[in-house]
Amino acid sequence: MDFLPLSYLNTFVFCPRRFYYEFIEGEMRINEHVAEGQIRHERVDAQMGERCEDGKRVRRRVYVASGELKLAGYLDVVEEEDGQIVPVEYKKGKVGRAGPWPNDQVQLCAGAMMLEENWQVRVPFGYLYYAGSQHRYRVDFTDELRQQVKDAIQRAWELVHRCAPLFERETAEMTASFADPGGPPVPEPVHDARCNGCSVVTICLHDEIAFLKGKDKPPVRPQPSLGAENVLYVNEQGAYLGKTGGRIRVEKDGRVFREIPIQQLDAVIICGNIEMSTPLERYLLREGIPVHFLSALGRYEGSLLPPLSKNGLLRLCQYRAFADVGKTMHLARSFVMAKLTNMRALVLRRARQSPHERLSEAAMRLRRAVEAAAKAKTLAELLGVEGWGSEAYFSVFALQLREGMGFDFQKRTRRPPTDPVNALLSLAYSLLCADVVAAIHTVGLDPFIGFYHRPKYARPCLALDLMEEFRPVVADSVVITLINNGMLKLSDFEVVRGAYYLRERAREVFYAVYERRKSETITHPTFKYRIPYRRAFELQARILGKYLIGELDQYYPLVVR
Ligand code: SF4
Repeated sequence: MDFLPLSYLNTFVFCPRRFYYEFIEGEMRINEHVAEGQIRHERVDAQMGERCEDGKRVRRRVYVASGELKLAGYLDVVEEEDGQIVPVEYKKGKVGRAGPWPNDQVQLCAGAMMLEENWQVRVPFGYLYYAGSQHRYRVDFTDELRQQVKDAIQRAWELVHRCAPLFERETAEMTASFADPGGPPVPEPVHDARCNGCSVVTICLHDEIAFLKGKDKPPVRPQPSLGAENVLYVNEQGAYLGKTGGRIRVEKDGRVFREIPIQQLDAVIICGNIEMSTPLERYLLREGIPVHFLSALGRYEGSLLPPLSKNGLLRLCQYRAFADVGKTMHLARSFVMAKLTNMRALVLRRARQSPHERLSEAAMRLRRAVEAAAKAKTLAELLGVEGWGSEAYFSVFALQLREGMGFDFQKRTRRPPTDPVNALLSLAYSLLCADVVAAIHTVGLDPFIGFYHRPKYARPCLALDLMEEFRPVVADSVVITLINNGMLKLSDFEVVRGAYYLRERAREVFYAVYERRKSETITHPTFKYRIPYRRAFELQARILGKYLIGELDQYYPLVVR
């Protein structure tokens, strides 16, 4: 990479962290401010070319580049009057109280310096036009401002080089940097008014980071984020999914029985023998809508996901942590302790509603398991602790179920589920796994490289790790709700070669309750704000990413009371 784009120099001066996310990680998010800015620029660009206006020669969208500054980009407008060259930049917002914003001044001045180099002219000043103020402001290109431009370019390049992917380095350097990254590459959050309306705020989590580093109060609310709000489940065996205009068409035997605007969808879940057209697959990929595949019997089989984020650096940090015993054990302990703690919370909740000696005893055993997990020194030890903790939890799972509903539960059996309750648990874990894979993918981590669950062919180990903390509170809770509210009956199950499965029609009820559970809000134990589970998946994946990249010194799992 030889030239820094001019617009990213503006971003760097505005906030180096935002520059890091957008330029280095390639995480571009379009919010209303970004969209409005793009539209304004498109309008300016539409008038591209050269013309005479009010006696001035006006050129629009002028390309400039400088080998000396290692910078390149477009100037919105260059005016020429009486031999004087004047660059003009268009901005959508309002001018600041102290005049044009420093980042805009640096961008304009950098553009002027490149004009001087390219056109061999002197450019002493330019204008910034703020649409929100409907006024243009003169900016003089003083020596001080020119020096600021050079300093900013140098600091931006330093950051880029620091984050250069390992494969661009020489072998010895590569080995050294893999072993010792020398601190997190991501700059600290500016954590001030600039964050209001910042398009990458959901990735940056400046409020959460400032709080975790003891620099501010807990955040008041989670930042808005895209979440899987509208999920299309397709369960009809033999159905075919095609695309008509901007809609998904679900048909079977020549009869169309559903048409849904694709723009309204956040995810598609295909269960069993269902075909999909290639144009639809491509469209969903382009739109960034994940498609998850479950077998006809409800087992998670994989996902069709948009391309991974360009953030290779984060994945390198993940692989580095995988090779680091200390980090691996910290994460494995965190996942297991969170799962056991949340299991205990469910048992205690039930014990409060309906006291029973066995529930108290199971809660005590789970507390001991959490304590033992905290002290576990090896993965094998942790595996043993998790095993007896889970055994304590499932030994009283039947007491979570309302009597007289016809459901019984003896122990957890997975492949195959040998009773209706186990069938429901397996289905709930499959859906949870698909959701967590999507969250991990969104963040840019590799779902196949886990810490507690060690890599095994085609096993989404990191998703299995991260879903541990959600298993009791999301998946198990859905199963308990379905049974205790009488939403499913024993007749809703079929037995195939000794294994129990939920029938096709009853699955619709299951999916609806699962989606409802994901929309329920909890108080996040660390940040204390209310957040729906669906958003918590992504939040936890981001916190994990921040630990892996070295920004946080520990992972903060989601544990409930
Ligand atoms: S939210 Fe704030 S700290 Fe984070 S990238 Fe945006 S401006 Fe920078």
